[in-house]
Amino acid sequence: MLAGDQFTRGLLRRRIRRAPRRRSRLWFAVMVSAAILLGLVVGRLWTHRGGEVEEAPVASGSPMIALVAPKIRWAVNGAPEDRFVAGSTPAVTDLQPAGTIEPGQTLFSALTERGAAPASAQRALVALSAKFDFRRSRVGHTWEASLQSDGTVVALRYRTSPERYLEATLGGDARFTAIDVHVPVERRTQAVSIPIIGSLWESVEAAGLDAQLAQSVASVFQWDIDFSQQLVVGDALRVVYERHFLDGKPYRLGDVLAAEYLGARGVWVAFRSPEEEGADYFNAKGESLSKLFLAAPCRYRRISSKFDPNRLHPLLKIRRPHLGVDYAAPTGTPVRAVADGVVGFVGPKGGNGNLVSIKHGYGYESGYAHLSRFARGLKAGQRVEQGQVIGFVGSTGLSTGAHLHFGLKHDGKFVDPLERREIRMPALKGRQLAAYARRVGALRDLLDKIAVTAPAVAPSTPTDPSQPAAASWDESGDF
Ligand SMILES: [Zn+2]
Repeated sequence: MLAGDQFTRGLLRRRIRRAPRRRSRLWFAVMVSAAILLGLVVGRLWTHRGGEVEEAPVASGSPMIALVAPKIRWAVNGAPEDRFVAGSTPAVTDLQPAGTIEPGQTLFSALTERGAAPASAQRALVALSAKFDFRRSRVGHTWEASLQSDGTVVALRYRTSPERYLEATLGGDARFTAIDVHVPVERRTQAVSIPIIGSLWESVEAAGLDAQLAQSVASVFQWDIDFSQQLVVGDALRVVYERHFLDGKPYRLGDVLAAEYLGARGVWVAFRSPEEEGADYFNAKGESLSKLFLAAPCRYRRISSKFDPNRLHPLLKIRRPHLGVDYAAPTGTPVRAVADGVVGFVGPKGGNGNLVSIKHGYGYESGYAHLSRFARGLKAGQRVEQGQVIGFVGSTGLSTGAHLHFGLKHDGKFVDPLERREIRMPALKGRQLAAYARRVGALRDLLDKIAVTAPAVAPSTPTDPSQPAAASWDESGDF
């Protein structure tokens, strides 16, 4: 899970960096300055009029210029791709302002700033309010309006997501009619092969696929394959997944339905269970791929003390059982809940120092001791998710140095956490298993039809096969 988080963050960073800054004024200013400069260079400064470049001052042979002109035009126009024209309203509209809700802005202020008459805007908003609670209005929602020259709103569309918008149109009776439109998402199943040519995301991109698919696949196999360590050039993946379409255009990646990793070290296959909510991945027999617990509750340098019912205590110098595992880690290292659960205790508790305990399903309870501090606002009775940060490594209580003491109880008795690391979630049974088996048959056929192509790059640096098979939380796990 930790490796997965790292991976997710890595991808997010990549995605954020790549996202186009659509209406960046700074960018616009830079581009206008560049255009002015170019205008000066080619002696045609006055083709630039009030920020709008009619003709690109093209000097032959300079690739810079070709890049500048279209960007300025685009930034000046700033028009939404799909210009809004209200269906049933009179065609005579003088203004079609559009925008994105900005911090501190309301739809009303946005409309009136762009020329809508306040009274008319108010009436349109009242009509929309019947379909949408504007207290749930968010920065980033978009709007488009059609106005007459006197500022009368003829039509108003408010889009909360690519899948949903609300629309108010002014009828002949001078009343607004509002509709709430949910654009149907079309799901198409896609089947692809991904030859491993380097890292997982390099391979996914080389196959011409959405980088997000790498994240999905890594998450499907997160319990068994450490994609930062264990890929071998020449391995291959087959993936059956859903892609969502809106109005016939690719919209977003859906779920991975089946995936198969054909590796030098073995073959792993995963199928998604049929549920929409809370679906999970299982092997061909319906056994869960998910483990009950994270491999460890924090990143650590080493295990400084194992579970030992007969240990000589380092401070007390007496035989005293060590009923947990000590993970040596720097003070401040985040500590994560090893499984979903409900917080049982948060606070100082004798030799434990600052302690968090969490009750999980299946009779398990976990404890995290010697914490320097707790996650902000953590309270007994609160639900936590697997991987959620609940506190930070420290050395409070009876402790020789910064480490996390991690304990696990099963049915009220301390057990060795390291022995329970490999426990999987329960297998499918009964009707669930029958439904799953039918689905697996069809998905298996789809997987088998995917031709596995040879990688374009010759095998170069195979990973060390002596490395442990399970994803570890050690220092080297960065993607
Ligand atoms: Zn300990």
